[in-house]
Amino acid sequence: MFPASFGYVAARSVEEALELMVKHGEDGKLLAGGHSLIPAMKLRLQSPRTLIDLGTVPGLRGVRQEGAELVMGALTVHADVASSELVRKHLPGLAEAASVIGDLQVRNRGTIGGSVAHADPAADLPVILTALDASFAVRSPTASRTIAVDDFFTDFYTTAMNSACGHGERLCEIAASCFRLRRRQRRRIDHAPSVRHLRVRAHCHQRIEQRPGPRGRHRDRIAGQTAHPTDDHRGGRQGG
Ligand SMILES: Cc1cc2nc3c(=O)[nH]c(=O)nc-3n(C[C@H](O)[C@H](O)[C@H](O)COP(=O)(O)OP(=O)(O)OC[C@H]3O[C@@H](n4cnc5c(N)ncnc54)[C@H](O)[C@@H]3O)c2cc1C
Repeated sequence: MFPASFGYVAARSVEEALELMVKHGEDGKLLAGGHSLIPAMKLRLQSPRTLIDLGTVPGLRGVRQEGAELVMGALTVHADVASSELVRKHLPGLAEAASVIGDLQVRNRGTIGGSVAHADPAADLPVILTALDASFAVRSPTASRTIAVDDFFTDFYTTAMNSACGHGERLCEIAASCFRLRRRQRRRIDHAPSVRHLRVRAHCHQRIEQRPGPRGRHRDRIAGQTAHPTDDHRGGRQGG
């Protein structure tokens, strides 16, 4: 299928992207890797009149360490998240999740910012960023703010960016603490009593926050992902 015809403009700076978003309003849509937006346009689920390309904006890609946090530019592609030495060392679960997204082509084009802004409930990165207690730095033409993950994903395919400032706000960076991980797991929980016939994927992270004194403070966060019927429930073979 072909998308409805649309215009295209390449932003050359964050400021220009924000101005273009204001100018085009509801008719404009930001383009990052295009691996969620373009399929949606082909299915005519979305028909923006103008795409505002962020891929031409410098400085939005890469991972850096700031004190006890890793900060990832919104345009960092999945392949770079997966191969980053910093992410592999400090947030190995995130590197692992990014390394199994789609195929090589998807990982070389799709971005961490696009994935969280799209807020697909079946996507990998939003759930692991929830488990990691990440935060999101967003900008509008007039203000910047940081949104905690618990406030960021407000519904399926909906984020606080949309409801707060409409098309005037965009995602710049994602930050997550790299406290020493004690244990990390990506775990399937089968046959939990309340979800007897569902297979649930969840990410569980436990970390120790270093505090003065002999003991650290333990924090556990579990974020659930997709749930789907088991083969058992469909009358077939029970999967592992
Ligand atoms: C074949 C295929 C397989 C895939 N498999 C997986 C998988 O296994 N796991 C998984 O998690 N995902 C998967 N995906 C989705 C993939 O990860 C996408 O790349 C990702 O969801 C969207 O990132 P993007 O950079 O392509 O964003 P785009 O498609 O360019 O944008 C998505 C949405 O986010 C908005 N947006 C983008 N950047 C910003 C920003 N900085 N600020 C505000 N809004 C922004 C856009 O306007 C758009 O509404 C797959 C996609 C394809 C095509």
